[in-house]
Amino acid sequence: MSEVNELYQQLILEHNKSPRNFKKLENATHDADGYNPLCGDHYHVWLKLDGDTIADIGFQGSGCAISKSSASMMTSAVKGATIQEAKEMLEKYHSVIMTKIGDEIPEEKIESLGSLGALAGVREFPARIKCASLAWHTMNAALTQKEKSVSTEN
Ligand code: ZN
Repeated sequence: MSEVNELYQQLILEHNKSPRNFKKLENATHDADGYNPLCGDHYHVWLKLDGDTIADIGFQGSGCAISKSSASMMTSAVKGATIQEAKEMLEKYHSVIMTKIGDEIPEEKIESLGSLGALAGVREFPARIKCASLAWHTMNAALTQKEKSVSTEN
């Protein structure tokens, strides 16, 4: 268990240090702003849709290591996916990080998340769950284009 945690921690630190897709998309078709005032995490997410597929995605902004690494992992996970697949990933990821402390998460569910599973441990730190979900909500807001800006506090 601690070995797994250490591996996950390294993955989070690595994504924080060299975030993937950390760029503004000049030819974006969708974008949204996400803000977590409790921690000060603030990101902008750009998407380029090609039909139903997320052909490209980028993000910029700043925040804590959890928020930045989760944004990096989110962009890696949904790039090339369809809107439907991205929404399914969001749901699965969200259900894992929202699992109550003490409740068992099936091993295969975490494994099916790939590197996103590294953030499953944030459920033990309720204040950080918003950090870990901010980029996903921002991506979702950009996709639906219902709101240009999302906040974890309404
Ligand atoms: Zn944060």
